[in-house]
Amino acid sequence: MKLHVEDISAQVKTLDFAEPHDEVNRLLEQGPIHEYRVKRPFAVHLAYYRSGMELFFSGSLSAEVIATCARCAEDFSVATRRDFRFVLTPKSMGDLGGKDLNAEDLEFSLYEGEEVDVSPLVREQLLLALPTRPLCQEGCRGLCSQCGVNLNLTSCSCSKRMLDPRLEALRTLKLSRH
Ligand SMILES: [Zn+2]
Ligand SMILES: [Zn+2]
Repeated sequence: MKLHVEDISAQVKTLDFAEPHDEVNRLLEQGPIHEYRVKRPFAVHLAYYRSGMELFFSGSLSAEVIATCARCAEDFSVATRRDFRFVLTPKSMGDLGGKDLNAEDLEFSLYEGEEVDVSPLVREQLLLALPTRPLCQEGCRGLCSQCGVNLNLTSCSCSKRMLDPRLEALRTLKLSRH
């Protein structure tokens, strides 16, 4: 999504658009996190204005993402949301060193020419929104380390066989007292 720098004024404007997901999926394939795939174009809401030569953006995005569980390797669908803020400074003024970088959630970038392309920035925000280790559910039981079945769906006898029969007898005893 490109905006004309000229059209960005001191007055706050808002913009809603759907950002195509193919580029983000390509980044995901190449990058260190392979566990995700974005299902369809994702919704972005932007509010933006100018202060001097600096362009301020704030907004939110929401995306439907397919993730592969880190424990059981099943695919699951997850709704991802993120709020963000960023500031664009003209490249000609390009010294970011003097900026107050203490504001952790505020990101600084440079722009050049008459247009700014917010798509790369928005894509980056989506990548930041994805947890590094996706789990299909908080208590996912994963795969049996011995026979490989998905323990969320079925049980196997591997772990039972490993239980000490004397402990098993004790447990039965405790239960029968109630
Ligand atoms: Zn899982
Ligand atoms: Zn097993």
